[in-house]
Amino acid sequence: MAYKITDDCIKCGACAEGCPVECISEGDDKFVINPDECIECGACADTCPVGAPVKDE
Ligand code: SF4
Ligand code: SF4
Repeated sequence: MAYKITDDCIKCGACAEGCPVECISEGDDKFVINPDECIECGACADTCPVGAPVKDE
């Protein structure tokens, strides 16, 4: 399991800077999380101003 970023993302980049395993990168319409590297720490969800990162269940 991992976190994913919803379409609410406004591409501010804060989550990518704070991810401890650097598994967030900029995509075409939003930032995206590599689910194979995400350790589910939740830092991106805490940092995001619009609540876009959510647990992918
Ligand atoms: Fe990175 Fe943690 Fe967010 Fe996973 S939950 S993408 S490891 S900041
Ligand atoms: Fe998108 Fe939130 Fe990450 Fe900013 S912190 S790039 S709004 S997911």
